[in-house]
Amino acid sequence: MRRAYVALAAATVMGLAACGGGGSYSTVVGKIRNTGHVVVGTKWDQPSLGLVVGPGDPQGFDVDVARYIVNYLAHGRHVDITWRESPSSAREALLQNGSVDLIVATYTITEARRPKVTFAGPYVIVQQDTMVRATDTSIKKVSDLRGKRLCLAEGSNSYRRVVDPPPDGKLDLPAVLVNAANYSDCVRKLTDHRLDAVSTQNLILAGFAQQEPGRFRLLNDPIIDERWAVGIKKGDAATCEAVNQAIAAMWHDGTATRLLHKWFGKTGLKLPWYLPKPEGCP
Ligand code: GLU
Repeated sequence: MRRAYVALAAATVMGLAACGGGGSYSTVVGKIRNTGHVVVGTKWDQPSLGLVVGPGDPQGFDVDVARYIVNYLAHGRHVDITWRESPSSAREALLQNGSVDLIVATYTITEARRPKVTFAGPYVIVQQDTMVRATDTSIKKVSDLRGKRLCLAEGSNSYRRVVDPPPDGKLDLPAVLVNAANYSDCVRKLTDHRLDAVSTQNLILAGFAQQEPGRFRLLNDPIIDERWAVGIKKGDAATCEAVNQAIAAMWHDGTATRLLHKWFGKTGLKLPWYLPKPEGCP
């Protein structure tokens, strides 16, 4: 009897030790169902994806996707969401230290990130393209980026697709990297002629471009398909499986398509139209 009690106590302690988001549950899906509260990380500076305007919650496609997933995980019960800014440079650390429970923030699955993050999804597959000033006729295709000044948004993988080889790079082109804090900083520097090109997923670029019509041009010369996934604390397989079910439901009931059109319908981009194959929850 006593031995059984000790074993149970040890299991409980292990469960607590594995918990994320500062709660007393071993999985995020358990936390959502038992406490009705969750901390979600999104971008706060990316128009149409995750953008904070004024005092309210962030707005955009990723924010709406996160709301859908949380509601699905909660079986329709009301959940309070605390939104936390999750810049590219801090995402892995925010998950590891439990400051956020889920990250939905244009977060690509990469080999370098896999050991640190459990990725659910992907929830959408998006092409990487390149944006230049509309007036710059010297860059018409990606190979014209040789020797040009390319933005390196801190913590983001996208610049590697241009300047590095696989697995996390692609083209291995010699471009001159210019540091920026995030993608809104990249776009500011592009406007100010402090760099020549920003290369990342076309939905990110189009979000900025549609804020200032006529100022920028997308090359429409795709580099690679990027898998945007939901970041979860490493090892929380139960939440990963539940999020994968939510993503499938979001495509099957038409919500994913509706949200893509809501946020990007006027960009002229060919929008993603299918449920990506889940990568599995190791
Ligand atoms: N999806 C890319 C990445 O995760 C670029 C955008 C971002 O950093 O959020 O590196």
